[in-house]
Amino acid sequence: MNKFIEGLNEAQRAPVLQKDGAMIVIAGAGSGKTRVLTFRIAHLMQQGVDPFNILALTFTNKAAREMKARIAKIVGASEAKNLWMGTFHSIFARLLRIEADKLGYPSNFTIYDSEDSQRLIRTIIKEKNLDKDIYKYKQVFSRISSFKNSLITVKAYYANPDLQEADAMAKRPRLGEIYDEYVKRCFKAGAMDFDDLLLKTNELLTRFPRVLAKYQDRFRYILVDEYQDTNHSQYLIVRALSDKFQNICVVGDDAQSIYAFRGANINNILNFQKDYEDVKTYRLEQNYRSTKNIVNAANSVIDKNKVKLEKVVWTDNDDGPKIQVNRLLNDGEEGRFVASSIFENRMNNHLSNGDFAVLYRTNAQSRAIEDALRKRDIPYRIYGGTSFYQRKEIKDVLAYLRVIVNPNDEEALKRIINYPARGIGATTLDRLILAANSYDKSIFQIIEHLHELNTGINSRTRGKLTQFATMIKSFQVTAKNSDAFVLTEMVAKKTGLVQELKKDGTPEGVARIENVEELLNGLKDFVEEQKELADATGNISEFLEDVALATDLDNATDDENKVALMTIHLAKGLEFPYVYIVGLEEDLFPSGMSMNTRSELEEERRLFYVALTRAEQKAYLTYTLSRYRWGKLIDAEPSRFIEEIDEQYKEYLMPPDELRGNSFVNPDLFGEVDKSKLRQNKPTPGVPPPAHKPSEEQLRKLRKIRPQNSQSTAKIDKEVLQLEVGAAVEHLRFGRGKVVGLEGVGQDKKAEINFENGGLKKLLLRFAKLKIL
Ligand code: ATP
Ligand code: MG
Repeated sequence: MNKFIEGLNEAQRAPVLQKDGAMIVIAGAGSGKTRVLTFRIAHLMQQGVDPFNILALTFTNKAAREMKARIAKIVGASEAKNLWMGTFHSIFARLLRIEADKLGYPSNFTIYDSEDSQRLIRTIIKEKNLDKDIYKYKQVFSRISSFKNSLITVKAYYANPDLQEADAMAKRPRLGEIYDEYVKRCFKAGAMDFDDLLLKTNELLTRFPRVLAKYQDRFRYILVDEYQDTNHSQYLIVRALSDKFQNICVVGDDAQSIYAFRGANINNILNFQKDYEDVKTYRLEQNYRSTKNIVNAANSVIDKNKVKLEKVVWTDNDDGPKIQVNRLLNDGEEGRFVASSIFENRMNNHLSNGDFAVLYRTNAQSRAIEDALRKRDIPYRIYGGTSFYQRKEIKDVLAYLRVIVNPNDEEALKRIINYPARGIGATTLDRLILAANSYDKSIFQIIEHLHELNTGINSRTRGKLTQFATMIKSFQVTAKNSDAFVLTEMVAKKTGLVQELKKDGTPEGVARIENVEELLNGLKDFVEEQKELADATGNISEFLEDVALATDLDNATDDENKVALMTIHLAKGLEFPYVYIVGLEEDLFPSGMSMNTRSELEEERRLFYVALTRAEQKAYLTYTLSRYRWGKLIDAEPSRFIEEIDEQYKEYLMPPDELRGNSFVNPDLFGEVDKSKLRQNKPTPGVPPPAHKPSEEQLRKLRKIRPQNSQSTAKIDKEVLQLEVGAAVEHLRFGRGKVVGLEGVGQDKKAEINFENGGLKKLLLRFAKLKIL
């Protein structure tokens, strides 16, 4: 037997060693499902299966990269490169490029991101003179998206009176018309939106049996991670492709199905047995990720769900510390608690920033955490916020590139036709769109034939438009002869984009130029990387595809040693030694919008299960007594999920006094809230009142934390605050260093220190715990 197989327990080995047939692995969090997929692929390859014949679908591109790297270690990098491995969207975008012409699309089709789609829908609503308060573009977009994910085409929509009636009831009787126009406009622009990547793949596989047969033969072995979160459209693709050989292995956990709101269908996992002829079902029970306390706590919560497959999850790992529940006054205090706890843990347990994650229900919660981490000089990275590629200046450059690749791309064209300003105003653009609609051409095609058409655009403006088209065409020539980096550099300079940014001398303006430089750096890397790959050319369309499909999780370089901040949805599949789950309050988590039905509430509970099971060693839960929601300070109540954790696996702790004090909140902010109540423990059924009755152990812990704090403050007063430039110091983690600069006074005094191990760091002396040498 191969050596690497020894890295699997017996239950895990079985699905790895079963070479052929349909199989499903259903197992709880951290039990090695992803590991089984990885090893299974390596094992298939060792048995002589050609990597070109293996298709592996993962939840993020990052997961795919990690899996590939793992497999490369076992079977060698050159072979691993040939695997078809990635997210549904990236894999099928690749396939569609090859087959695009069959569907009437150019192979260089653009991928519209959701912002592009929403803009286009907004345009259509406006063109049709519909009331934008009733036809809200975001709602219309999500309705269209759900149609596409259920394979309901425009035709199918019009054939279905129920759907039309539902829209009429929602006062949007003309939704079908918008859908129709949206689809037509995307097609004319040579663009597919995210949902099209799946919808069109389905169309391709259904309408062209030969194409289906070709890919069935190609993908003899199919593997799917996180199968519980596949939607109908994804399900059909997998089913069609695996139909011939039926060598399909899916892994998942019904308890971690958290994307129902985006169309994920838990029945895909529940019905798998019925879909294939001879299905083997495997179960894994041993969790390798987390401590006993974490595993048991998570089990005790998910037990409250009624709809679930019965599963056993246990672990041989240590008991570990209990789940620590912390009650804070408000989000400011919550942020400070998290920052200070990370700081302490990092020091005391020799951890690095990358060992910590802060998870929240909604993106908006990150702000308070960020503020606190920044104040403590703790490096962090936010995932899922505004990603690099979503920044305006980056989108502008990318829009040029998109138009160069596909001049019919309407959304990209509208973005740059008059940016930087070249005298092509809104009226001209309106006239162009009008002409494009009436001649059934793209805007760019209209510009190319301006002199032959009656557009009502005057000759001066026509000159400018022609100039614009000439510029784009000259870039197209460059694109043919040079790589993506050279082209982008030329675009940045020749369009006047960089000069435009330079005009704005503010720090934000400078940051924007730096971002464009960063984009160029990224392109340089991309070009280098692509040169190593056999079937890639380093040209701009491949880069644009990567960008369009990059989730924010994918943009992080893996060696980044920063605290990770993200929503729980994004954290699926990941693991961190220390995890903070913040904002555990009723109406926030569970979300106020998801408490109307049992099934919604159960999905929130699964989300909490996902959050808790990310932790390897210790989990912290925090809730606050009051929180700003929709601009109002409201009384918050602890989440029911805290209560649902079995008593024996959790403990309640108050934050050390140091975090309180007068700095944490402006008393005026409290308004009508009864301030006396805030410091008291609000009785909540089932939640023991820690402030009144701390256990002996809690007291012991509290006592331990307090002297530590006062100790560090005392030390600061005497020595550290007198530090001078040139002084030699020692830091627990960064080692020895020399003070090279000082700023601020008193409590805010900071030192810039050049450490032998850690490089240049700026530390707040109050917290830095430095030894003066
Ligand atoms: P999730 O449900 O969160 O996606 P999972 O079931 O996919 O979890 P993995 O991520 O594959 O679980 O495994 C969890 C952790 O346990 C990983 O760090 C993995 O390397 C480790 N692990 C799994 N099986 C074993 C094993 N047999 N021996 C040692 N470590 C293991
Ligand atoms: Mg996994």
